[in-house]
Amino acid sequence: MRILLRYATAVVLRPHGRPLASLLSAVLASLAAVAARAAPAPPQLPPLDAGTALLVLAPHPDDETLCCAGVIQRVLRAGGRASVVWLTSGDASLLDLLLIERSVFGSAAKLRALGVRRMREARAATALLGVASSAQLFLGYPDRGLARLTAAPGDQPYASPFTGVAAVPYSESPFAGHPYTAASLERDFAAILARVQPTLVLVPSPRDAHPDHAAAGLMALRVLARRGGGVAVRCWIVHGGAGWPSPRELSAGVPLTRAPLLGDLPVAAFALTPAEEDAKLAALRAYPTQMLTLAPFLLSFVRTTELFTAPP
Ligand SMILES: [Zn+2]
Repeated sequence: MRILLRYATAVVLRPHGRPLASLLSAVLASLAAVAARAAPAPPQLPPLDAGTALLVLAPHPDDETLCCAGVIQRVLRAGGRASVVWLTSGDASLLDLLLIERSVFGSAAKLRALGVRRMREARAATALLGVASSAQLFLGYPDRGLARLTAAPGDQPYASPFTGVAAVPYSESPFAGHPYTAASLERDFAAILARVQPTLVLVPSPRDAHPDHAAAGLMALRVLARRGGGVAVRCWIVHGGAGWPSPRELSAGVPLTRAPLLGDLPVAAFALTPAEEDAKLAALRAYPTQMLTLAPFLLSFVRTTELFTAPP
């Protein structure tokens, strides 16, 4: 920049008849325009008001709170609507099972019971954020199975090696009995979009390191693209790279730093109020099964900001 300025000054000092100050400001304006083109503006969220209909897509119970608890609360306080759709019920955690049940014997049935328990936790957590029970939507697809399920041809069946089922086993889901196939998942998500009629959808980033998250994000972006425009879409990330967020502890009052896996993507920071941060913490504490195994990681998301990128 200094060299460019020296060059610009040398040029404008030539006696062209145009006032020096005006030439200099024109050169600086064009340099600023070049800089602005090189760094696109952060993808700020649209205004959150009474007309906002928010849909948060969560691969697992707890993701919605980690990524978006602040936005959910702000939309509801502004008089808008907020819904959460969970693609899976978190029914593949053998570690949870070991710590809760002290045994993995008969694990398929126990993991389905864990799924039911985690859905109950998700209801309690999001109720603390203000989400109505009618806006808590569970699809019931297989935890740790979304990447393989969505990579398979549309109607190819998938059976979860954890729960032993090949169709949605939960009566809590409006889609109970639907087969575990890519086509069925996309149809069910499209049905949720038709029901919620969102103006803003927050989906997992395809850059997220968790295979369920990346697959969920790509599936959602495909379905949203088919549906056409009129909906603002932003991506969030939870598994953002080794050691992130750092430090792995409760750091209320501190902003979330950029996740390494986002690279140089422009990131918009949504600022939480202290009360929104407190409610986010309370919502996370409503997930005892997850706090048992992942507390330091979960708590490290209670910060003054939540981060969003534009879809790829
Ligand atoms: Zn997750």
